[in-house]
Amino acid sequence: MKEPQQRQTRFQSKAEQCGICYYAIEQQGQLDSCNHSFCLTCIQKWSNIENTCPLCKQKFTQIEQKWKRVFYKSLKISKQKCKENKLKFLLYLEFL
Ligand SMILES: [Zn+2]
Ligand SMILES: [Zn+2]
Repeated sequence: MKEPQQRQTRFQSKAEQCGICYYAIEQQGQLDSCNHSFCLTCIQKWSNIENTCPLCKQKFTQIEQKWKRVFYKSLKISKQKCKENKLKFLLYLEFL
């Protein structure tokens, strides 16, 4: 395992860091088995290869798609729309 490199972004130092690419997470994908978070795109690619967390090796069955608060504020996505998107996303994962 490589040590995570510290990278500052223009967002803020508190930005969560992806455990795969080590950049600050913009669109977050969180595993259902543990609280580790990754970029949605990173963990999607990873889940094509295996369904264990890259950090703690726990098996996961779902990737929760999360947006950072800043996106909620600016886009005002309705709750229903989020639900639909999540369902579509989970269906998509099942067909992989
Ligand atoms: Zn990443
Ligand atoms: Zn984990």
